[in-house]
Amino acid sequence: MTKSNNQVWFITGSQHLYGLETLKQVEQNSLTIAKALDASGAISASIIFKEVLTTPDAITKLLLEANNDKNCIGLIAWMHTFSPAKMWINGLKMLQKPLLDFHTQFGRDIPWNSIDMDFMNLNQTAHGGREFGFICSRMRIERKVVVGHWQEKNVHTQIDTWARAAAAWHDAQGGKIARFGDNMRDVAVTEGDKVAAQMHLGFSVYGFGVGDLVTKYINNIAENEAEALVKVYAEEYSIANLSAIKSTLLTEAKTELGIKAFLEEGNFKGFTTTFEDLHGLAQLPGLAAQRLMAEGYGFAAEGDWKTAALLRMTKIMDKGLKGGSSFMEDYTYHLDPQNKKVLGAHMLEICPTIAAEKPKLEVHPLGIGGKANPARLVFDVASGKAVNAALMDMGNRFRLLVNKVNVVESELMPKLPVARAIWQPKPDFETAVTAWIYAGGAHHTAFSKAVNEAHFADLATIAGIEFLLIDEHTNLHQFRNEIRWNELYYHTSKGFFA
Ligand code: MN
Repeated sequence: MTKSNNQVWFITGSQHLYGLETLKQVEQNSLTIAKALDASGAISASIIFKEVLTTPDAITKLLLEANNDKNCIGLIAWMHTFSPAKMWINGLKMLQKPLLDFHTQFGRDIPWNSIDMDFMNLNQTAHGGREFGFICSRMRIERKVVVGHWQEKNVHTQIDTWARAAAAWHDAQGGKIARFGDNMRDVAVTEGDKVAAQMHLGFSVYGFGVGDLVTKYINNIAENEAEALVKVYAEEYSIANLSAIKSTLLTEAKTELGIKAFLEEGNFKGFTTTFEDLHGLAQLPGLAAQRLMAEGYGFAAEGDWKTAALLRMTKIMDKGLKGGSSFMEDYTYHLDPQNKKVLGAHMLEICPTIAAEKPKLEVHPLGIGGKANPARLVFDVASGKAVNAALMDMGNRFRLLVNKVNVVESELMPKLPVARAIWQPKPDFETAVTAWIYAGGAHHTAFSKAVNEAHFADLATIAGIEFLLIDEHTNLHQFRNEIRWNELYYHTSKGFFA
């Protein structure tokens, strides 16, 4: 796994009580652990040991440095020894970066024959970590707690999951999403409070007239640039009759290059379109949206800026992992009592990173929008585990809802010219869909075969937003109560715990 520029700072809590020799050993052991995590092929971020913290001033100084460092995406804090936690209050109060509370110990086993009081004093994370846990909980600081020996594979996996969520969070802070046109008229779930989204999730949303995109960007793309991109299409995709659809592909190539130029110039990380506002465009961008998603841009249709931002975060989390992630929509059901399934697709815009095979590039009419026939990549999605994640604005909070699903073999659908995935939701069709509806889950999702529910759970923890999971353990009675109890929690927590 290639390391990104993202740095996770590793800090160790201790105190002066133990004397210089012990503190030197604490520092040495911390360095060893941080280096091992940094070298781990299972952890995507760089892990950098900073220092052993023994005073309130040193703690505050370091945590403020973390806030201001542009490469630091979060901190791992380990209490090698006891570190009286009143020392941490001032620093933690000001910390704005994600925190992982690492409850590990240097030696895996108790050396039964040689253990003495010195050994116990050096290796007392069992109660030092509890003191740190108390102050974090006392201050209502949301963080990820990872328990286990630092050489365990499962520990590395948990740290990486959190580091990926922290990277997505880091990317979203100050991130920009461009909307071409507004919301699809009268749709409720794709609406929401953009000010609240910027406060809680970090990204801001900018609206643009689609005509500006057309006249200033798409119309300025040179013919030879479009020709070159169509050659790339012909290499990457199966095209049955290139000459017959060449003119459509040239239009689509100009659209792709124009949108890309617009996004790059404005430093946008994602975008939305809407078929109700295509002024000046020959057709709804299909292939262009698909390919830009594959490059890592967030995207959602019908002006759905929340899902575009969520897909961008998903694509930051899935970097280097097998699978891929896409904009998705629960489209239609197969209700055979023995074999209930969901067909997920969209009118055009599904990301080819989830394709099972080389996509087919085709041009067909589109019933909605009343424009020229758009090009799109058509493919199936390979069977296996996946998740659907949706982000809703519930008025007093954002809700991140995740359902674990199992993608199954696709059927032949010769008359359906769009990319599609067929899945069975967990724990079963009725429970999953009932829970999704009770939770107010959107029809648009970020679908991923690369990341799992734990990545989204960590992301929600970092953002401080609600997280609901529908998985193999979901019980409808408990799930409905969780929603009711969350109403109270999110209504009161800020007032009660301040
Ligand atoms: Mn849609």
